[in-house]
Amino acid sequence: MTYPRLLIVGPQGSGKGTQGERIAEALRIPAVSTGDVFRANVKDGTELGLQVKAIIDAGDLVPDELTGAIVRDRLAQDDAAGGFLLDGYPRNLAQVADLDGFLDERDQPLTAVIELAVPREESIQRLSRRAAEQGRADDNEESIAKRLSIYESETAPILDVYRERGIVDAVDGVGSLDEVFERIITALAARGITA
Ligand code: AMP
Repeated sequence: MTYPRLLIVGPQGSGKGTQGERIAEALRIPAVSTGDVFRANVKDGTELGLQVKAIIDAGDLVPDELTGAIVRDRLAQDDAAGGFLLDGYPRNLAQVADLDGFLDERDQPLTAVIELAVPREESIQRLSRRAAEQGRADDNEESIAKRLSIYESETAPILDVYRERGIVDAVDGVGSLDEVFERIITALAARGITA
């Protein structure tokens, strides 16, 4: 049995949040989404929320140190001992190094990275739809463009690091929720990661 210590990576609008939650539920592991943690803090008006609101609304990245501390705390909790699914972290090479340091100390390396591949045009369409439906403050045109450009320049390169380790499964993210979910579950099963 391979422990499900997973990361899901994909451009904004690829559906990684939704798929991440479904995978975590199916495998009975916690989904850890840094974006969700930040949004909850903004909503509740916490000190962290006040610190990050303007950064998030502009589509910029929250400083690595702050983000890393949140993830380390979360992964150290008991319910993450048997596995976890990270969504939205790491997002650049410095964060990969931070996460490696933390996971190496615990002898718990990532076991699979799911790359959700979606063409840029499709991502933009889905984000515009989400903006209309959910009214997220960072789903405006300027912020969307910035986030996609940060994804391409800073986040996509982290996949090369994980590809060299042989743990990346590229999954076609175009299709219905169920179709994409099945592709992911099949890819994980091939690595011995099952419920
Ligand atoms: P997401 O829901 O993953 O798209 O994240 C929403 C926003 O939260 C991002 O645009 C960033 O401002 C911030 N954020 C989430 N994860 C990270 C991260 N790993 N590093 C820095 N900022 C992040």
